[in-house]
Amino acid sequence: MSKKCSCGNKADYAVHDDAQPKCLLCMLEAVDVPIPVLVRTLDPWEAEPVKPDLVDVIDE
Ligand SMILES: [Zn+2]
Repeated sequence: MSKKCSCGNKADYAVHDDAQPKCLLCMLEAVDVPIPVLVRTLDPWEAEPVKPDLVDVIDE
């Protein structure tokens, strides 16, 4: 199971400072604003499920 966008599609991008998982279409929608928006591709390990108790360690 991969990380999912809020619309239900597979997420390929991390958007905003809190790295919200987004698919291509939702990412394009999120950046369609007059201000800079932080976007990057998800790393392969991020697209895979991570044990919840490891997330805090990895995020540091
Ligand atoms: Zn989406």
